[in-house]
Amino acid sequence: MLLGLYGVSRVEEFTGIYHGKDRRNYNNLAQADYSKAVKCRFEGDAPSGDPDCDNAYVYSGDTYDFFNKGFGRDSYDNQGSPLISYVHYASEICPNAFWNGQFMTYCSTFPHDDVAGHEITHGVTEFSANLVYAYQPGALNESFSDIFGEAIDLLNSQENELDSRWLIGEGIAPAVALRDMEDPESLPWQNPATCGSRFYSCSTSDSGGVHTNSGVPNKAFVLMVDGGSFNGRTVKGIGLNKSVAIQYRTLSRYLTPYSNFTDDYEALLASCRDLTNKRIYDADPETGGAALRERIAKTDCAQVRTALDAVEMIKAVCTDTAPTAAGPLCASGQTVASLYREDHETGSAGWTASNDPALYTAQNWTVATDFVASGTHAWRINNELTSCSAVDYTSDVYLVSPSVNLAGTSRPVLRFVHDFFTESGYDGGTIEININGEWVKLAGNDFTLNGYNGEISGAPNATTLDAEAFTGYRNPGSFPNLKYSESRVDLSRYVPQDSDGTVQFRFRFGTDYCNGTEVGWYLDDVEVYECKLP
Ligand SMILES: [Zn+2]
Repeated sequence: MLLGLYGVSRVEEFTGIYHGKDRRNYNNLAQADYSKAVKCRFEGDAPSGDPDCDNAYVYSGDTYDFFNKGFGRDSYDNQGSPLISYVHYASEICPNAFWNGQFMTYCSTFPHDDVAGHEITHGVTEFSANLVYAYQPGALNESFSDIFGEAIDLLNSQENELDSRWLIGEGIAPAVALRDMEDPESLPWQNPATCGSRFYSCSTSDSGGVHTNSGVPNKAFVLMVDGGSFNGRTVKGIGLNKSVAIQYRTLSRYLTPYSNFTDDYEALLASCRDLTNKRIYDADPETGGAALRERIAKTDCAQVRTALDAVEMIKAVCTDTAPTAAGPLCASGQTVASLYREDHETGSAGWTASNDPALYTAQNWTVATDFVASGTHAWRINNELTSCSAVDYTSDVYLVSPSVNLAGTSRPVLRFVHDFFTESGYDGGTIEININGEWVKLAGNDFTLNGYNGEISGAPNATTLDAEAFTGYRNPGSFPNLKYSESRVDLSRYVPQDSDGTVQFRFRFGTDYCNGTEVGWYLDDVEVYECKLP
């Protein structure tokens, strides 16, 4: 069970007609149709008598007050948008709770303080750093929701069960909380407490381990607040008030959509320096708002650094999935005979971009200048599709090379530099060669360097026989450290198959029904060459 099936839908910004705390709670009456929900408690109304409705009201209020009293924020978007909650929602996603970018939805018994705080913080994140929900940026997104959700739980006077400090969602199922921020590695959670942990997830599932790897910044936060000896270091805790002030400044002033753990490390230290000797405010939802007597001192920032070092926040992760560095093109003693070369700097002569007109056609390979391997131009197919309801984004797009003459060669090699980040397992790229008028997919074992890294389903270029593709990301740990890498393909078995020795290549990208939201696929320098004895 995931706390927060946090959707990727994006909302329009409200124009800010409503300001101040404005809660609007509805009861879905144990069904999923929002149009059939009935009003159960709006701002200023007396208690409804329904515990879920009243709890959701109190806890969304606590969340509003935490961000407002501590940091002057006016609702999740800082524009005073209403906090809308639906309780007693029922569908196959239950038991759960989620924020969809516009409002909260709770299955029955789910309104709890840390849950409301967690989910509404996803809204705060969306309207501040807007961390993408994948890999390390996604783990930070999850961690900020745990940090502020738990801070609200600790600060308000509600639901303070014995031994519940640092447990997330302990009110839902008393036997087992969803996460333990203090001891992420313990059973049954087994989330990493350090970047060097064997529990650090390099998988592409759960959007790149967002609910797993959040354990690392979560543990750092616990050490910041409470201190302790961990992983060979001893931290003197600086307390909750200073810690949330530093975390909020980091989220709202420094981090950006692709920020990773290293960025968070630097941003937390910068935020601590910024706030040193400055006034900070009491974020207690019930009694807060006043300036605190305590001030962040330089020595506190040293403790923050020690806490971050204790969890190995800036350690390289998932290095075994990084692309292999390209070696020499030919063995020593041989020379490179280039048969075709295109760096895409002057118009990509003979290259054509197209797509299947029967499918979604509004995305295509286009010339890119924002991220290149050489010169100033490359190609990109964008994968930033989202909606899973309105539009079927199933698409099949092609970038086709001009003819390349392989006649007379015996072991030609196709090489190209590229980088990709797609919805792992669903959207991805494949390479094809045109043999006697037929497009044939280059097989995984034709690659001699950095071949297909995964399999896709649902996209038009996935088949039941061969679903191998470039999909997800090669080094999720360091995302979004976009970096071109080279792939090479041995074409020798295709040369005798083609009657005139003239072939073309097709860089084919497929998306399934919905939910791209990633960078896509960039392609730059392409060359076909053969190694010759002098
Ligand atoms: Zn979440």
